[in-house]
Amino acid sequence: TPETYDVVILGAGAAGLMCAAIAGKRGRRVLLLDKADKIGKKILISGGGRCNFTNLHVNPAAYLSQNPHFCKSALARYTANDFLDLMRHYHLSWHEKILGQLFCDQKAPAIVEMLWTECQQAAVTLRLNTDVTQIQRADAQFHLHTTQGAFQAASLVIATGGPSIPRMGATDFGSHIAKQFGLKNIPFSPALVPFTFDQTLLEGLFAGLAGVSTPVAVSCGDGYFREQMLFTHRGLSGPAMLQISSYWQKGAAVQIDLLPGLDAYAWLQSVQQQRPKAELKTLLAEVLPNRLAQRLCETLFPNRPLGQYGDKMLQSIAAQLHAWELTPAGTEGMRTAEVSLGGVDTRELSSKTLEARKVPGLYFIGETVDVTGWLGGYNFQWAWASGWCAGQYA
Ligand code: FAD
Repeated sequence: TPETYDVVILGAGAAGLMCAAIAGKRGRRVLLLDKADKIGKKILISGGGRCNFTNLHVNPAAYLSQNPHFCKSALARYTANDFLDLMRHYHLSWHEKILGQLFCDQKAPAIVEMLWTECQQAAVTLRLNTDVTQIQRADAQFHLHTTQGAFQAASLVIATGGPSIPRMGATDFGSHIAKQFGLKNIPFSPALVPFTFDQTLLEGLFAGLAGVSTPVAVSCGDGYFREQMLFTHRGLSGPAMLQISSYWQKGAAVQIDLLPGLDAYAWLQSVQQQRPKAELKTLLAEVLPNRLAQRLCETLFPNRPLGQYGDKMLQSIAAQLHAWELTPAGTEGMRTAEVSLGGVDTRELSSKTLEARKVPGLYFIGETVDVTGWLGGYNFQWAWASGWCAGQYA
């Protein structure tokens, strides 16, 4: 005979742990299942082990989705401050790194321990190393067959995350379950991921630049970010490029402003007057990393003393510095993507409860849902908020 619970939650990651604690506190008998050998693996590796657990500037515009309004309700009902209250309760502290990004002073394991303590206080049952082999719905109950026996519950919450970093066991299990129950999916694709470039560019313009980092403003489609860009052996990375990758589609160019906040034309004109004998590469090295300045003057711009450039040429150099267009060959893919775009089509779900409209009792939370945040703590906040909401109703 199957073990019976009120709620079964698949996936003991960020969203699943939050949901389990909240549902358990309502007096629901909760079973939390995970195929991994420990809970919260992605929390543990996040933010270089310090977990960038939320952001002070959480707002719906920081999330990508085919249905941008969907995330508003959950984000408004469970805010960054609510999570900070929980941390205060556990005497955990944090610091802001940049751009509202909050990191845990006691590091990522302390966050996992806090969530697990909440689950234990709510009498949540945990089963690790458990693979679900079959799910059926009959008589208003979900019947689960697993490698650790059979379970049933009226509510089933899918919190199995997205497919990024498959070597950690990440899968698109959530979208298979959605499909099984007749719900539409937006196909998963890698996001917050470094760009790769063609060999000709890597051996040409980018040669010798790996490791160079510089602040830029980058845009592509609806995306615009001012952060650091990093040259790598395979292309471009750094927060600016990770952010814009979520807005990029194959074949599109990204536009890079190498001198954000500076009027390059006015600056070049004034140095032309004051130091006409200074070479362009010397001047560029005053506002850009030296190696990048050299490389630009070896490939893109003719390097001459500034006095020798006509006005048209100065304008053209300035324009290229502000709007350098590069077309990535691709991305590093799911192997290194921090999150994935796509997931269960939000039009299938209630934004209040995260329950599937067509399948009473079936919930999707966290990265399984087509809501993807910017880099900087936004994805965990979506996991906490969506988990909290489903935890109120499951
Ligand atoms: P997850 O936390 O991935 O949890 C899913 C759980 O489901 C896992 O425990 C998994 O083992 C389990 N599971 C999977 N398939 C099954 C199955 N078939 N049956 C049972 N269980 C299953 N976001 C931030 O906001 N800030 C950061 O600093 C940050 N850093 C990151 C660093 C890295 C390297 C990576 C990869 C991601 C980072 N993220 C960060 C993104 C963040 O980790 C995810 O958005 C978040 O973990 C999603 O939460 P989730 O609960 O939906 O999924």
